[in-house]
Amino acid sequence: MRTVRTVAELREALAPERRAGRSIGLVPTMGAFHEGHLSLMRAARDATDVVVVSLFVNPTQFGPSEDLDAYPRDEAADAAMAEEQGADILFAPPVEEVYPDGFATTVKVDRITEVLCGEHRGREHFDGVTTVVAKLFNMARPNVAFFGQKDAQQALVIRRMVRDLDMPVRIEVCPTVREPDGLALSSRNAYLEPAERERATALNRALGAADDTVRAGERDASAVLAAARAELTAAGVEPEYLELRSADDLSPVESVNGSTLLAVAARVGRARLIDNRVLGGIQQ
Ligand code: AMP
Repeated sequence: MRTVRTVAELREALAPERRAGRSIGLVPTMGAFHEGHLSLMRAARDATDVVVVSLFVNPTQFGPSEDLDAYPRDEAADAAMAEEQGADILFAPPVEEVYPDGFATTVKVDRITEVLCGEHRGREHFDGVTTVVAKLFNMARPNVAFFGQKDAQQALVIRRMVRDLDMPVRIEVCPTVREPDGLALSSRNAYLEPAERERATALNRALGAADDTVRAGERDASAVLAAARAELTAAGVEPEYLELRSADDLSPVESVNGSTLLAVAARVGRARLIDNRVLGGIQQ
């Protein structure tokens, strides 16, 4: 595996691969790798010939009061893990390479960025995500890019951007990887003290309780949400949001049908955690 830091080096490394007709897979990340990231790298390894993992803690997707400075960073450990998964190139640019002096362009997706995390973190968060992902697509020109269902809204926003801007890339969304007790893996789990780590399991329990209710035949949104909320309350977790929405376009739903997403965000200690589940669907 090679580590490259500039767009020129990345293009130089990929040009012969592209000429030889090899497919390129891109896994965009902010580092501090865990099994969630590694599962995306393995999916890329299985589906494409050349695997590029990008590692960039993107400042523009953090709000002014968010954890940009505290965000865990360990490039050496990340490089070793990416290499072990069979990545070919680690693209780890400095901030100036991505946002040189005079940078003035934003890629904005409307509507689905204005609810859930967009409502609570500010839609600027998703403007930061779409702008950096559009840039990464132009830099690496991947055939396929891999994202996690853990960030369900992000994946939908990126699919929308790709469709709207006719970007020639296929988006693959991979299942959420969880700890044995159900907590979704996240780089931010590192912020949790032991007692908080225990309370954090309430998020997945809430999703499970809602799913059980649906599987038992309940379709009414408020009844399903009440089952989820009870689990959070029992653990003393106050959600930032707990909402049922269409899994296709995040429009609000009054009753649960085949593709309804239950999405939750909550602050536990210093960590802002998110999780989601498609109710009545295949377990993720
Ligand atoms: P991040 O480094 O947090 O920006 O995440 C990079 C990619 O990994 C994103 O596509 C995330 O959705 C994905 N990801 C993060 N956590 C998980 C997880 N627990 N399971 C699956 N994918 C994940």
